[in-house]
Amino acid sequence: CGIIGIVGTQPVADRLIDSLKRLEYRGYDSAGVAAVVDGKVERRRAQGKIKNLEAVLAEQPLVAQNGIGHVRWATHGAPNVKNAHPHTAGRVTLVHNGIIENFAELKAELAATGRTFESDTDTEVIAQLIDAELATGLAPLEAFKATLDRLTGAYALAVLVEGADNLILGARRGSPLVVGEGQGEMFLGSDALAVGPFTNRVIYLEEGDYVAIDHDSARIFDASGAAVTRPVKVVPTSA
Ligand code: GLU
Repeated sequence: CGIIGIVGTQPVADRLIDSLKRLEYRGYDSAGVAAVVDGKVERRRAQGKIKNLEAVLAEQPLVAQNGIGHVRWATHGAPNVKNAHPHTAGRVTLVHNGIIENFAELKAELAATGRTFESDTDTEVIAQLIDAELATGLAPLEAFKATLDRLTGAYALAVLVEGADNLILGARRGSPLVVGEGQGEMFLGSDALAVGPFTNRVIYLEEGDYVAIDHDSARIFDASGAAVTRPVKVVPTSA
């Protein structure tokens, strides 16, 4: 029930864990992270407490500077490792808060094109749809927008695309998402608390907004696809 994304200049694993601990108060049953390691996206996931995820990371470290993290409050699919986020389909790995109401029809449509699913979540259809759009030749941002247009329900998202290493895509509808502005670093988080260890400069995305962050910029678009500017707020430091 919480999201963090970091396009950073420092080792990311401990930072993701730090943020996830700040999101614990929302309640959760499992946790996971993904990061770009030498151009490849790798995941670590665990059922139960964040300390279980830390144990997995101690065994199999993630040495990277960009990544995403999630604490899950299961709505579709049992709270186990295979249903824990991040979810991966082809080049796409993402975390999601919320509920995709039309996931069953999207899943049937994707399955009919030969796509196979590895989880019981509503979330996995989003990753599969973005990957299917990429496969038609669309650029990441266009594939993301085309996918958002097909979803009904509520979502906050943070998305990694293999081959677009310093990019994280985000979107919010019905679930909150903020952008945090650092020095040569950019963050996404469910709230200002999640990005609090890294920056106190926060942009509150509006309903229907989506965003592409890289080291130096946050390009924000409204639901119609028009580029928009949202104010940067300086929030009390919580580091
Ligand atoms: N509906 C998704 C799931 O069950 C996301 C739950 C959440 O917001 O943590 O996996």
